[in-house]
Amino acid sequence: MDLFEYQAKQLFAEYGVPVPQGKVASTAAEARAIAEEFAAAGKPRVVVKAQVKTGGRGKAGGVKVAEGPEDAQAKAEQILGMDIKGHTVHRVLVEEASDIAEEYYFSFLLDRANRTFLSICSAEGGVEIEEVAVSNPDAVAKIAIDPLTGAPADVAAEIVKAGKLPGAAAEGAAEVITKLWDAFLGKDATLVEVNPLILTKDGRVVALDGKVTLDENAEFRQDLESLTFPEEGDPLEVAAKEKGLNYVKLDGEVGIIGNGAGLVMSTLDVVAYAGEAHGGVKPANFLDIGGGASAEVMANGLEIILGDPAVKSVFVNVFGGITACDAVANGIVQALELLESHGRDVSKPLVVRLDGNNAGLGREILTTRAHPAVRQVDTMDGAAAQAAELAAK
Ligand code: GDP
Ligand code: MN
Repeated sequence: MDLFEYQAKQLFAEYGVPVPQGKVASTAAEARAIAEEFAAAGKPRVVVKAQVKTGGRGKAGGVKVAEGPEDAQAKAEQILGMDIKGHTVHRVLVEEASDIAEEYYFSFLLDRANRTFLSICSAEGGVEIEEVAVSNPDAVAKIAIDPLTGAPADVAAEIVKAGKLPGAAAEGAAEVITKLWDAFLGKDATLVEVNPLILTKDGRVVALDGKVTLDENAEFRQDLESLTFPEEGDPLEVAAKEKGLNYVKLDGEVGIIGNGAGLVMSTLDVVAYAGEAHGGVKPANFLDIGGGASAEVMANGLEIILGDPAVKSVFVNVFGGITACDAVANGIVQALELLESHGRDVSKPLVVRLDGNNAGLGREILTTRAHPAVRQVDTMDGAAAQAAELAAK
């Protein structure tokens, strides 16, 4: 789960990382009021920053310096509602402007390939680090972090040195790095990125930007809910989440239900491939109903998928394991009955492929029940082709 910049900065502040003072506004009038507070405190220059979960806001015109409240209002008017890489700006952060002497780059991240944590540090910040890594790889230091040691003073000093940060920033940057590690660890983050980390003209090291990704698997011990804005998610994804389903909305026409993330991923591929023969029909979603696919879970999944107006057909792809196919078949039958009893429309064609444990028994149950929406195909490729064809009609 990604945080907005202002949320990342609140988190940084909680851990003692210096950040500019600022407040969030969702209207230009609010932005002006915040700028007035800064002006009254002797800080008329503010920066108005688009709050969207994507980088490159500066380049896109989403970060603007304003000379006073009136200007802040005008800049906020320009930025609010702006589209940045497909993200609409609903809020702006209005913060005291900083006097920048230099811009650096710093991040902690999970290095999946090397099964460890990594710190990345560079004296060449402010710009996209991927570009620096290509044009001037020596300027980007990558140092593995031992999770048990973390980044105490000596490790932080080593990172700062490897990143070739100048002497004037060394001490301040090392302190920031240690605190960012505490935040990274304390909040179960998989990414904490500060670009730019700045040295101000009066010699302070400050996090001027913040990008934080939190690990949703840590939800049981973290308060992620207070950081979420339900209005910003896809409505179907929000509904699915409420039902505890592992659902991701995609933009195709074939609804997908499967058991096991790997099977569902390959189902998406197979359907996309089959769809090429039918005018580019694509999967409409990812939905993994997991190992113990009860009738209730199946009903919840079908309800979400059938509620997606883009869905024209549904492919239920199940490989019976611990939960055998007969149990899944009964689940499908009961799910359809449950939905029908709630007055839901279940007429969209359902292509079911059952294989694995007790597949024969499962197929028999569906054949006997003979629900008009259900048709069975024994192979995954065959079922994908039929689901794609039905969706194209
Ligand atoms: P991003 O483009 O989405 O990464 O947004 P950033 O928060 O990193 O801002 C982009 C750039 O705007 C920074 O690299 C700075 O050069 C500039 N900027 C942001 N805040 C200030 C500020 O307070 N003062 C000055 N002078 N420049 C700023
Ligand atoms: Mn940035």
